[in-house]
Order: sequence, then structure tokens, then C-alpha cells
Amino acid sequence: MSITAQNVTKRFGAFTALDNVSVDCPAGELVALLGPSGSGKTTLLRVIAGLEVPDSGTVHFRDDDITSHSARDRNVGFVFQHYALFRHMTVFENVAFGLRVRKWPEPKIRERVKEMLHLVRLEEKAEQYPANLSGGQKQRIALVRALAPEPKVMLLDEPFGALDAKVRAELRDWLRRLHGELKHVTSIFVTHDQEEAFEVADRVVVLNKGKVEQYGTPITVFEHPKNEFVMDFLGNVNKLPVRVEGGRALLGETGTVELPAKLFGANENGRTDAYIRPHELDISRTAEGGNCLLGKIVHINPAGSVVKVRLLAEDFGLMINVDITPDRYRALALKQNETVFVTPKTARIFEPDYTI
Ligand code: ATP
Repeated sequence: MSITAQNVTKRFGAFTALDNVSVDCPAGELVALLGPSGSGKTTLLRVIAGLEVPDSGTVHFRDDDITSHSARDRNVGFVFQHYALFRHMTVFENVAFGLRVRKWPEPKIRERVKEMLHLVRLEEKAEQYPANLSGGQKQRIALVRALAPEPKVMLLDEPFGALDAKVRAELRDWLRRLHGELKHVTSIFVTHDQEEAFEVADRVVVLNKGKVEQYGTPITVFEHPKNEFVMDFLGNVNKLPVRVEGGRALLGETGTVELPAKLFGANENGRTDAYIRPHELDISRTAEGGNCLLGKIVHINPAGSVVKVRLLAEDFGLMINVDITPDRYRALALKQNETVFVTPKTARIFEPDYTI
């Protein structure tokens, strides 16, 4: 079942929470709504769920315009950040709840609950109460409770938000696999964590101030961020002040270092920022070409699959983060307080308010 929100606008008094938003989720896909706090993610989810009525625009499930249908008639499954399990009911009864409301016959309920608990490998917890479960287990039960009545659409609002990093990572992995098995469910989930969105989702919608900044597959959004907002929001990027002159990007006041910049937009001469990801810089002990700068190593974090080096480019008063491979780190034998050469391999410069 595909989900389409078309030109949706939602105002709360004078405040516009969603401003002409259009999103198309293909059937069977997992789509993440990603954006900072207050960008309109939950409001869009609630409009799709039928919990908010848009001021204008439409919501379609497949070809059916369901904009005026009540939440009950939309047959969607919900999972919220806080488990919202019924504390006085056993795990079994929690999962059975939606089936009893829909008056499923008892033998079918037993069969379905068993199947659901098997899906999340929590069969042995059937007679326990939520208080006896860990946070991750509660959230898995919340997910299969929502899935039990066979919804075609699942809406998840920061489903792992309340869990610690390790459990979050496990549940992400698990959600991805579960979604792969449930071929007929289309899911939309809200997150403000770009790593989570990129890891789990087939497509990502980046929202900002009630508008869609970019919509695409994780790889497209990562490799081709449409504008400064998306580039910045994805995080983990160096933002360096530059002057653009005749199509060249020069770092700092003196303009002695030219960046190998890709210019997006008209880029008239003037001051702006260049964006360079940490892996798009290299460190060397000798100057490599004309466009390198000197950096004093202030910190090295070698614990990880990449080595993170933080440097101060004193000539420009800039802190720069560089990621290098452990092999390169060992070959260079880098030490704190040493001065080395830093060479940008690429840089992106966006015209302010430019969008492809
Ligand atoms: P967060 O990550 O913090 O949950 P969000 O991106 O999900 O943020 P929304 O909850 O959709 O954002 O809220 C978008 C904006 O709309 C916020 O500024 C919020 O204060 C406002 N808003 C949401 N619901 C209401 C409401 N019922 N009445 C008034 N304003 C609201």
C-alpha cells in the first residue's frame, strides 16, 4: 500500500507547522522523516495517521483519498517513543488487545499472538508483565502489538528514542530485518538521528521548518545533499569560511589556499562557507600541491575503524577534523602537538538559499 501526502499544509493558529509538503512512500518501503526538533515530523505523521486534519492538501493510501477518513478507519499500526504497553496486562494480552477489539475468534488470537511473539523471539515472556521486561524488549512488544492486526501501514514516532545506544543499534538492525520479512507493510518512522535514518530507511525525507528540503535514498541524500541546510544537518562536516572570486574558492582573508571546490548555484563573488567532510581531507608530512594548509594536531582518537584527528590551522584560526585510515595513521606516526600538512580533496559550496 503506497502512501502519498500531497501539498499538505497544517497551521496551529498563526504558526505553520507544515507548509505545502508532498511525500510519496512506495508500497512496502520504510521511509524516515528526518529533521531537527520542531521541523514538523510528528505533525506530518499525525496527518497521515488521521490524528490531525490538514488545512489543505490530501493523503492517499494507494489510489484512495483518505483525507477525510477517521484514524480508526485507516487501519494503521502505531509505535510511539514510550512503550505505552498496558501495565496491568501480560505480554500475551498486550499483543492480543487489538485483535480482541476487532473481535477475532479466540483460536485465531492465540495463533497470531504466538506468531508475533516468535517474530521478536520473546515467546517465553508471554505470561510476564511489562514491568519485567527490559526497555528493548518492551519496544519489541509494542511493535508486534501494532503489527498483530495486520495493518498495511505502520507509523513509528521516535520508536527507539528512549533507549540507550547499544539497544537502539540492535533494534534498528532488527526493525530492518523485520520489515524485509513483512513485505506488505509500508512504514514511516520519525527520527532526528541521521545515522538511524540512513541505516534503517529505504528513503529519507529531510524536513526543516515545515518544508521538505530533500527526499531521496540515503545514498543520494548523503552523496548529493541539495543545499546548505541538508549538508549541515547531516553533521560531521567542516565548515570553512571562503571568498569566491571568478569561480575560485579561496580560504581565509589572504586567499593563499585555493580549495578544489564544487560550486552549486550562481556563486557570485563574495564570502560564504565551504563544506568538507572529515574523510575528504588528507594529512601528509610534506606539502602535496599548492592547496594545502598547515595544521597543528590538538587531538587524536585512534579508537575506531577510522582515526579521528583534530587540528588547529593557526594561519586561519580554524579547527579542522580529519578522518584517516588506521594504516595511514600508523604510516605517518602522528603525534599530538605536531604540525602537518592538510590537503582538501574536495569541497562543496552552496549559494545561500540555493537548492538543486
Ligand atoms: P520533535 O522532534 O521535537 O518532536 P517535530 O519535528 O516532530 O519535533 P512537530 O511535533 O511536528 O515537530 O511540531 C512542529 C511545530 O508545530 C512545533 O513548533 C510545535 O510546537 C508545533 N505544534 C505541534 N503540535 C501543535 C499543537 N497541537 N498546537 C500548537 N502547536 C503545535
